[in-house]
This record gives sequence, structure tokens and C-alpha cells, in this order.
Amino acid sequence: MTGSGPILPGGILGVVGGGQLGRMFALDARRMGYEVVVLDSDPESPTGQVANDRIVAPYTDTDAVMRLVERCDVVTYEFENVNAAAVATAEGAGFVRPGSHVLRVAQHRLVEKGALAENGFPVPEYAEVDTMADMVRAVERIGTPAVLKTATSGYDGKGQIVLRSAVDMREAHAELRRQSVALILEAFVPFDMEISVIAARGPDGDVVCFPPSENQHVNGILDVSIVPARISDEVRNAAVKLASGIAEALDVVGLVAVEMFVTIEGELLVNEIAPRPHNSGHYTQDACATSQFEQLVRAICGLPLGSTELLSPVVMVNLLGDVWADAGGTPDWDAALGVRGSVLHLYGKAEARIGRKMAHINVTAPDVETALTRALDARERAAGRG
Ligand code: AMP
Repeated sequence: MTGSGPILPGGILGVVGGGQLGRMFALDARRMGYEVVVLDSDPESPTGQVANDRIVAPYTDTDAVMRLVERCDVVTYEFENVNAAAVATAEGAGFVRPGSHVLRVAQHRLVEKGALAENGFPVPEYAEVDTMADMVRAVERIGTPAVLKTATSGYDGKGQIVLRSAVDMREAHAELRRQSVALILEAFVPFDMEISVIAARGPDGDVVCFPPSENQHVNGILDVSIVPARISDEVRNAAVKLASGIAEALDVVGLVAVEMFVTIEGELLVNEIAPRPHNSGHYTQDACATSQFEQLVRAICGLPLGSTELLSPVVMVNLLGDVWADAGGTPDWDAALGVRGSVLHLYGKAEARIGRKMAHINVTAPDVETALTRALDARERAAGRG
């Protein structure tokens, strides 16, 4: 643990969780001259492959989190389902950024919605659901269509059921009650578009935001991010203001990704927040002056935050394990990389399962429509359909 000055290159950064977000954080941190230690139960995790050292233990292991914090100048995490209690304990021994107070909010959809609403940030109408009687009351108040979600452990559209009408409610309630005690019913937002903004905040309270990204999901999983998002300047400014306000209100040191719905009327509603790098921010790697991963390093180390200037229109396409299945094995990288402006980011995962995030491709081009056409073409080529 260091004093009050910045943690300079040469320092040791810890990351809880060994997935692709940790990997890309570690790659940027190492480029900047830091050492990286990862905590993950798999020694060959995507982050483990590129870190300087590894603590091999489950991320829920309080002792292991403590060992990591004691060993590093600052520790961050790459997903929000780490043990908040373990993080809170470890905070006494060193810096964990963002702090456990942010984790607790982001881990629980009801706490999250409550904290946002309390601070005056717009969220879809919602209700807490425990018993079937709560469910009936919630559907009466909110109406249908609505979305029933587990309050914890949901990601990429998992743990949620859309209620088309009230007749679906008994079955949906029974189904999700099996997965989680706490449930939340949200009004279904007939959105025009989904966007996200990643805000970075340093220990001195300085905040900067990356440009909003227009996000398209398939089966609840991010498919494509388009930047600049095709929204008005008014919506763009409001989205950035919202994300910086949330970073401040939650006292985030590090990154916070804010996912929002743009309604048909052009209003913004916050869907969820993630206090870490975000899939929708991968475009920054090849299109911004500073990547979201370098920005995280800067923020948690107390260095000046980097420029978030967009240097080129860009589209990011996710490559799930499905691409491997379609290609009948290894994707056709040779064909994909023949697409002008394409940059491949491969996560080092041994097994390509359907729906598993394996890689992404960023494509920069003079305008977003061209970038979109080329990015989709690159993915088609990777899948052997070029
Ligand atoms: P989430 O896991 O909450 O981010 O949800 C995954 C995806 O489901 C979102 O990106 C939306 O496309 C959709 N979704 C979630 N909640 C709602 C809602 N209240 N209204 C409409 N669509 C939603």
C-alpha cells in the first residue's frame, strides 16, 4: 500500500477475476510498465496467461482476496459478482477501487435501482417481488408487458423473463423463484435504442466520459456497438451528464459503465450499471485516444485521466463461440483480417462454447455505416461465410 501520491509505473496492480476484461486491463497495464497479479481459480485463465503472477483461488475466497490486496498497490475487479464482504474486509488492508460500497449497489438490482432513484436518476418503473401476492400487486401496478428478473447474479439477459400478459406471471414467478429469492419486476421499456456511457473518475473526483455507444443485443448478449451512436446531440449530452452524475453520486474511483434505454420520446432511463470495464467500451481500444482499460489503470492509480476523444467512427462486433461452430473449428482469421480497418482481440479461451464471448473485432472507417458493413463482413468471413 502506498501513501497519498499516485501509484506510478513499476507499481503492482491486482485484479480479481481472470476473464477477458482482466486480460485486456493487464495487457494495457503491462504496456504502461505496471506489474499485474490476478486472482482466479484457473491458472490458465485469459488474464492468467498475460499477468506477471497469479493467486490461484476462487474469487469468493476472503483470505485470497486479502493476500492479493496486501501484495498489491491497488486492486480492482473485472466483474461485479465478487464477494463484496471479502472486498470490504480487504479494504482495511489496502486500496480496492472501486470500493465495496459500489459493488454492493451494482450486485443487486433492487439496491441499484433504489440508489439511482434516490439520487434522482431516471429508471424504469419497478417493484420488489418476493411472494406470489407481491407478484400480483406488482403486475397490477406496473402492468404488462413487464420483465421479471432475479435481483442478483443475472448477466447477459440470464435470469429474466418477459411477461407478455398477466397470464404468464405465475409460471415466471415459479421459474425465477427457483433461482433467486429476491426478484424485481420492471416495466418493459419500448425503447428506440440502447446506449451506454463509460465514465471514469479519479481519487481527486475528476470525471471524464467516453462517447456514448449504440448497442444492439441478440438473445440478451451484446452483439454490436456503434460509435458515434446515431442519436441527437441533446440525447448525447444528457447521456454523458447522467453517467458522470452517477460516477459522482456513487463515489466511484475507477470506471462505471452506465447502460441506458433511449425511449421513443427521446428520454433516457438507466437499465443497469457496472463498476468495471464493459463490453460496450471495447471500441475505445482502437478508436479513442485512451482505451477504457488504460483509463482504469489511470483512475485507480490516481494518474491524470486520459483523453476520451473519438479519433474515428468505429463498430465493434462480438465473436461468440457460435462463430467457431459455424466455421467448423478455428475461424477464418485470414479472411476476417482482410477487411479494411479490422483489429482482432482474441481472449485466449480454450473451449469455444455456444454463446461464450471468445473475441471481438473493432473496425474503424470514415463513417459508421461503412464501419458497420465492414465489421459484419469481418465476422461473416471469420465464420467461413465471407
Ligand atoms: P440486462 O441483463 O438487465 O442488461 O438485460 C439484458 C437486455 O434485456 C437489455 O440489454 C435489454 O435489451 C433487455 N431488457 C432488460 N430490461 C428491460 C426492460 N425493462 N425493458 C425492455 N427491455 C429490457
